[in-house]
Amino acid sequence: MDKQHKQGLEDFLAWVQTRNPDEPEFNQAIRELAYDVYPYYAEHTGWHSAKILPRLSEADRIITFRVCWEDDTGEVQVNRGWRVQHCSAVGPYKGGIRFHRSVTASVLKFLAFEQTFKNALTGLPIGGGKGGSDFDPSDRSNREIMRFCQAFMNELYRHIGENTDVPAGDINVGRREIGYLFGHYRRLANSFTGALTGKDIEFGGSHVRMEATGYGLIYFLRCMLAQRQQALDGLRVSISGAGNVALHAAQKAMQLGARVITLSSSKGVLHNESGIPQKDIDAAIEAADSSTKTLKAIQSSSGGDWYDGEKPWQFPCDIALPCATQNELGEEDARALIDNQCQIVAEGANMPCTEDATRLFKENKVLHAPGKASNAGGVALSGLEMAQNASFSRWEQEHLDEKLLEIMQDIHAQCIQHLEAEDGYQDYHRGANIAAFHRVANALMAQGVG
Ligand code: GLU
Repeated sequence: MDKQHKQGLEDFLAWVQTRNPDEPEFNQAIRELAYDVYPYYAEHTGWHSAKILPRLSEADRIITFRVCWEDDTGEVQVNRGWRVQHCSAVGPYKGGIRFHRSVTASVLKFLAFEQTFKNALTGLPIGGGKGGSDFDPSDRSNREIMRFCQAFMNELYRHIGENTDVPAGDINVGRREIGYLFGHYRRLANSFTGALTGKDIEFGGSHVRMEATGYGLIYFLRCMLAQRQQALDGLRVSISGAGNVALHAAQKAMQLGARVITLSSSKGVLHNESGIPQKDIDAAIEAADSSTKTLKAIQSSSGGDWYDGEKPWQFPCDIALPCATQNELGEEDARALIDNQCQIVAEGANMPCTEDATRLFKENKVLHAPGKASNAGGVALSGLEMAQNASFSRWEQEHLDEKLLEIMQDIHAQCIQHLEAEDGYQDYHRGANIAAFHRVANALMAQGVG
């Protein structure tokens, strides 16, 4: 980057930082995108004078609300809810809802920002948003979760709709929670529309939606390997997490002949050098239980070693798939992976690698796919669920799986088209950021200032 651009970029990032102090995740997500796109942005006089980057660093709107509900003992509980509607230039706001004690405005702003660019890569008409609450569902009963979802929807319903904003699941929001949220939306709005995705197949859901993020990740990984004339067969794959994304990624990787050697939760990691058996993964998907419980069940069925409080990255592997949460893979983890000759890191979670880890992968020529490209399969299938709802139809499983594969191949092709090979290193981050930014920036330009 030349000196003038460097200064422009630094001024822009300082401006963002001043406007969003104490929001590290949000600043990080903007930095990661801006480093890649700034040289193009600065030279595109139209984008630059229309202030596209500053416009995108401010969400269209952020709705903050109180969520008040009664627990099983009759005590009143108060949580905070948010919906960040980031950008609707290419379609209605679209993105998940996360329930976790780590949820803050910064986390949701970064996720909504990422979502806008991820959704643009899918090629579908969907904009970016994200929502959630600092509610911790871990020790809550089923009825408490239902009451919380209903209390959350009491406010959210007036801000969403099939043509305005279409939420879906994310961490701790799965099919059950979407059912409760959708049921309450339908009652409050007196309208049965596709205002949420990830629904049960019996009331407007789509085949392949549950599998889509994990399967899509493996389809993307397969494209990365094919670029190097390699196949997944026989490779050792380390996966973090034990939720929907991790388990479906493991299932598809195994179907394609890989050896999945780890899964993890916030409490520790399960390592099985000879490979976790497919039947245990299938059973874990069936059980849809809490992650540590799932891992203990796998261990008692097929063995392997449990490491309390550890992460998966210390074990030698060919491929690493961080599928848990943001910034879970740091500098030390990256060093361990590099020392153990890991070849590819593909993100199943959103921004799971810290900036230091990302830099190390680049310096050491480890191929590294950013979540906005490699985990876009989930939201892509959500887009296809919206299409089915809007046309009052249901598509076959096989057709949807093919569509998912096509979309992931297309995202990979977009990355390749825009990435720069420096010293033979293919920078997927740069490719994804530039491709996504083009679509969003051009849509904003075409629609005028406002
Ligand atoms: N939460 C998922 C994501 O991070 C899916 C969002 C959706 O389907 O709208 O992309």
